Amino acid sequence: MTLVVQKYGGTSVADLERIRHVAGRVARDVRAGERVCVVLSAMAGETNKLVGWVDGLDPANYDPAEYDVVVSSGEQVTVGLLAIALQSIGVPARSFTGWQAGVATDGAHGKARITGIDKAPILAALEAGKVAVVAGFQGLAPGDRLATLGRGGSDTSAVALAAAIGADRCDIFTDVDGVYTSDPRIVTKARKLDRITYEEMLELASQGAKVLQTRSVALAMAHKVKVQVLSSFSDEPGTLVVDEDDIVEQQVVSGIAYSRDEARLTVLGVRDRPGIAAAVFGPLAAAGINVDMIVQSVSRDGVNANMTFTVTRSDLKRAQAVLAEHQATIGFGEILVDDDVSKVSVVGVGMRSHAGIAHTMFQTLADKGINIQAISTSEIKVSVLIDEAYTELALRALHTAYGLDGS
Ligand code: ADP
Ligand code: ASP
Ligand code: MG
Repeated sequence: MTLVVQKYGGTSVADLERIRHVAGRVARDVRAGERVCVVLSAMAGETNKLVGWVDGLDPANYDPAEYDVVVSSGEQVTVGLLAIALQSIGVPARSFTGWQAGVATDGAHGKARITGIDKAPILAALEAGKVAVVAGFQGLAPGDRLATLGRGGSDTSAVALAAAIGADRCDIFTDVDGVYTSDPRIVTKARKLDRITYEEMLELASQGAKVLQTRSVALAMAHKVKVQVLSSFSDEPGTLVVDEDDIVEQQVVSGIAYSRDEARLTVLGVRDRPGIAAAVFGPLAAAGINVDMIVQSVSRDGVNANMTFTVTRSDLKRAQAVLAEHQATIGFGEILVDDDVSKVSVVGVGMRSHAGIAHTMFQTLADKGINIQAISTSEIKVSVLIDEAYTELALRALHTAYGLDGS
């Protein structure tokens, strides 16, 4: 008997009609002989509403453990509703919150990592002939506290459960019918990919393509989970995430991602001396702030330099505060900040064997008059930081320049 995990995102369970529709799909697969473990998100918009309530009370100093109690509640509603919808059409089913499903996490509230899954409760339900309907995005942290896995985290719940119970497949049902060469909501000429490598999907997700949460891809890669991204509204095949060997015809660039969740800081007038980068980035690391792109420029006198780097927008205020606190020990003049920036990244495993990818990117942006504020690269990616206002223009121009446009 095939064992599958099916994850449905927020738009797929946005109202009762859609929940009935999901129940119908699950019923069809159960009647075809599959054993199904369903993982759900909250109804579309629900998690934002819950986050808004917490922010409305105390945006700065809330207890992250209580934030998790509030924002994890949306998934509890949808799993109960789907279990009822399944039962009402004669399919035995029961719901599980994250903790009932044996999902253990670390204590990093708001962005917890799954540390282990006790597969026994889910397997017991499946063996009893029931559909297990599990709340995504949540688990149990040390001290028996509820924890959430970071926004978009139900993808990760699904892949982790698939790995734990040894599922044959993990199908991620969403509001697009697969992974595209770029966000189809912005680049109308984006093409659906039949296959994408784990590595490219990981890079695209970490550079902002929110179709899969980054950690879900990392987990799938580590545990060799067969992931497919597809639409809950059609029966078309979606995109398979596969090993590089399973790709027949490799494009040089497979996809283009963007992230508006960026902020730029420039520390002016730091001394150009050994240890300066450690002095600037040490306190930020100690405060748990991730720094992404970094550019150090030497000023004309050869003594003073400027250090430009990016953090996520939500970390900007804290980063400023941490640097100000350490101004005397680091030694700098002032800090400039800009959060009207975005990062655009081109990704493809073909870059390993092809030169000129970065040049095409820089030339294309230059032709559109878009200034590049910072650059970073990896073996299979080139990212640039640009003015946020040009994000869509840059995406479309690059999509055309790399020959990715569909009809
Ligand atoms: P869900 O609620 O189902 O988890 P998400 O909103 O998290 O759905 O993710 C799906 C969205 O990801 C799509 O609606 C699309 O706008 C966006 N997206 C960004 N980049 C891509 C891409 N390369 N391919 C497909 N979708 C993408
Ligand atoms: N409901 C959560 C969110 O909106 C988790 C998810 O949808 O994956 O972030
Ligand atoms: Mg999502």
